[in-house]
Amino acid sequence: MSRTYDAVIIGGGIMGCTTAFELSMRGLSVAVLEKGALASGSTGRSSAIVRQHYSNETTARMALHALGVFEDFEERVGGGCGFVPSGFVVLVPEADKEDLEANVALQQGLGIGTRILSREELVKVVPDVAAADLVAAAYEPRSGYADPHRTTTSFADAAKRLGASFFLGHEVTRIRFSGDDVVGVEAGGERFDAPVVVNCAGPWGARVAALAGLEVPVSSCRAQVAVYGRPEGHRGPHPVVLDFAHASYFRPETGDLMLVGLIDPSEAEDVVDPDDYPEHSDTSFDLDVGQRWMARCPPVEAASPRRGYAGLYAVTPDWHPVIDEVPAGSGHFLCTGFSGHGFKLGPAVGLMTAEFVTHESDPTFDARIFRLGRFADGQAVESRYAYSITG
Ligand SMILES: Cc1cc2nc3c(=O)[nH]c(=O)nc-3n(C[C@H](O)[C@H](O)[C@H](O)COP(=O)(O)OP(=O)(O)OC[C@H]3O[C@@H](n4cnc5c(N)ncnc54)[C@H](O)[C@@H]3O)c2cc1C
Repeated sequence: MSRTYDAVIIGGGIMGCTTAFELSMRGLSVAVLEKGALASGSTGRSSAIVRQHYSNETTARMALHALGVFEDFEERVGGGCGFVPSGFVVLVPEADKEDLEANVALQQGLGIGTRILSREELVKVVPDVAAADLVAAAYEPRSGYADPHRTTTSFADAAKRLGASFFLGHEVTRIRFSGDDVVGVEAGGERFDAPVVVNCAGPWGARVAALAGLEVPVSSCRAQVAVYGRPEGHRGPHPVVLDFAHASYFRPETGDLMLVGLIDPSEAEDVVDPDDYPEHSDTSFDLDVGQRWMARCPPVEAASPRRGYAGLYAVTPDWHPVIDEVPAGSGHFLCTGFSGHGFKLGPAVGLMTAEFVTHESDPTFDARIFRLGRFADGQAVESRYAYSITG
């Protein structure tokens, strides 16, 4: 038996669901094929920090667009996304002061609400912060964090209301072509026919691309998150903090908890099988990142570690995604490799990919910087900071 659609999307994470939503909005009939459950890949383990601090114009514009969707979610998508506008602060050491200022100037030029904080202002914005070693900080009052699972299922529900079909427990095992043109896939013993197939398979992106005979440089890397109980007296409102001096981030979580993770390119070294990897954090990791948090906020040293967890980053050589049609004109699209910072961009990625698929003549964003050929052409995306992990 075969089923026929205008587009088949492989993967039911944030990218698959936002793309399904945007394509359905444009009147296409869409099937999403997901081998597990919705948000069961990277998305469900995401810290879901929603910030706009990027150092190139395209990603900063995408982050700004996406923030508008998170803020106005019920109206623009329907359902909830659990967005908490806690504010966001980025802290940098001396070596990055000029780059931080240049980034903030770029972002302000795009209409992003961000500003440099003085040390006196910083201690008012971030409770318990030790600021003596810091040279510069930037603050985005509108940013925060969301609920990644809820966001994804709300996009899926919205796509369903527009007619999209979701097939969970359907692993795509074959991508079918007629000459250069894609004609569909096989999944769960069934045939799905479509002139458009979009690979939104996250950390499995390279494996799925191989089904189309393509080599795509996306590695599946284990990324850990430590969970700490916030001590009594230190449980008030708190912005998300990205602390480049300690290569770490921390953000509040429901239940008087704090999530603490790394922003360190070394995370790309822990390459794992995405179907079989240790899903709890290592005790040594919990203690290490806890110390980094406490070094930045000494009054929380009584905080107690709880059991942490690990998820997957889909890492490319320049820490930016691949969004492209390969071969050109084939109907076979790649939308993978979001390298540990894709969740917040999800609403913009869905729009970008849908406009790409439907040949929008005046697209909202320029997808060319994410083309697959950039790696071979020596035109990888550059970040202003030496550690490009945050984009
Ligand atoms: C610990 C952690 C913290 C993070 N923190 C942040 C953050 O604070 N802010 C931020 O913006 N981003 C963050 N990220 C990154 C962000 O979560 C990812 O970039 C984003 O979720 C990627 O979404 P995706 O849809 O591309 O991939 P996924 O969510 O992995 O979805 C891919 C889906 O494809 C399915 N699939 C794979 N192969 C097949 C197949 N053959 N057939 C059918 N289905 C298939 C998988 O089951 C999976 O559900 C974090 C990630 C992790 C792991």
